[in-house]
Amino acid sequence: MKVVLAIDLGTTGNRVIAFSEDGAIVAKSYYEFPQIFPQPGWVEHNPFDILNTTMKALKDVISLVGIDSIVSIGITNQRETTILWDRKTGNPVYNAIVWQCRRTKEICDRLAEYSHIIREKTGLPLDPYFSATKIKWIIENIEGVRERIDKGNILFGTVDSWILWNLTGGKVHATESGNASRTLCYNIHTLDYDDELLAIFNLPERIFPEVKESGGYFGNTDRELTGREIPITGILGDQQASLFAQGGWEEKVVKNTYGTGLFLMTSTGKDLPGSGRLLNTIAWRIEGEVNYAMEGSIFVGGSCIQWLRDGLKIIKASADTESMAESLGSNEGVYFVPALTGLGAPYWDPTARGMIIGITRGTGREHFARAALEAIAYQTRDVIEEMERTTGMNFKKVRVDGGAVKNNFLMQFQADILNTVIERPLLIETTAFGAAGISGIASGFWSREEFFNARKVDRMFTPEMDKDTGDTYYSQWKEAVKRAMNWVEG
Ligand code: ADP
Repeated sequence: MKVVLAIDLGTTGNRVIAFSEDGAIVAKSYYEFPQIFPQPGWVEHNPFDILNTTMKALKDVISLVGIDSIVSIGITNQRETTILWDRKTGNPVYNAIVWQCRRTKEICDRLAEYSHIIREKTGLPLDPYFSATKIKWIIENIEGVRERIDKGNILFGTVDSWILWNLTGGKVHATESGNASRTLCYNIHTLDYDDELLAIFNLPERIFPEVKESGGYFGNTDRELTGREIPITGILGDQQASLFAQGGWEEKVVKNTYGTGLFLMTSTGKDLPGSGRLLNTIAWRIEGEVNYAMEGSIFVGGSCIQWLRDGLKIIKASADTESMAESLGSNEGVYFVPALTGLGAPYWDPTARGMIIGITRGTGREHFARAALEAIAYQTRDVIEEMERTTGMNFKKVRVDGGAVKNNFLMQFQADILNTVIERPLLIETTAFGAAGISGIASGFWSREEFFNARKVDRMFTPEMDKDTGDTYYSQWKEAVKRAMNWVEG
């Protein structure tokens, strides 16, 4: 049997999965690695922890499937996380600064006058989330790095590049367009690093990885590491990989990942329609053609269910919320705005805070559970309406993945609130599947159609609520959001 391997480099752990031609998981291995929090709001990883857990998982899977069965490898990664290392020794000059890390807020404030031009050229807001200010922080704060850069000894990469460079025995320093488009230094119109952006951040182009197509040959793994050279033929960032796995190259397909947060993405093809209150980014570049995407992220999704479990302790397991919500005929007027860390897309209000409103003497735990699940569905509609408004698209269907899609109440309520069909695939590890897909298509393991047909639908949820009732619920939610905004000092 032949397989394609996906290396899924996540924020809390690394996973390797072997997929067979029919899309089945043949073998997998996963290792967590430590999160490092040096100060409030700072998040780091040790790059060797990332590398070692990846190699362990890779070796496990190779020994399970046999080296000769592996056709190619695809990589998917936590995006934006920034690593600088020495090209001679392979040693990082500092820990990886993780996408969640807010330490560069002050650098962003200093550069605020350029935010318009940055948005224009990259599709992104000037925010600590993206790589450029993280690179700048390392250069400004770690002694000797600037001199080592001048000597040509320092390389920058996101986690995909770090692992690619190591897997190829230090031979290949590259990334692909989607990951590059999250650095704030890559112009999404010209598809190249941009001199003006590099000058704004005062970053030298020589440290950046070469940008290749997302699907195509990147290099071979080093024989010493894997026992035989294996071609690496695809890279995609995590959200892009999930969109790819969901067949996101078709028109009018939107995917929503229901994990800790909610991550919505749709392809806009060759068009860059402007992003309204969302982000424009590159989905992928294949066979010379770029595919743009629109993205909306919500900070609190499944994590409001975790808060009911670990903070309030009113449920034992996340799954309990399904029967609790179903035990009520309606929300009975109780709404939960989970602005626990402010509000992201499309409100962008860091001063908002969480709120539960509509409580009466008859309110119980069930109302809290239902209101939390409903909030996930309303926030999704907020972003989808913004996507439809800015692109002029009208989505017929939402394809879903992530841990919380197991909740049938949530899925049905989502279909009702959007008045749209929800399609849940059997395999919800879509990021890994997307990485296997981009690699397998480039290596000839699958055609695009064969890959998409390997994806199996578990269940479709069709709207059951009449549209007016759904709209009434949703307008009450919008009222509640207004009251949660502008709460703390900005
Ligand atoms: P991540 O990859 O962001 O860590 P996952 O995709 O593993 O997240 O999803 C986990 C999230 O989904 C958690 O926040 C959890 O509370 C939520 N979740 C898991 N199962 C359910 C369920 N049956 N109902 C509601 N939420 C759930």
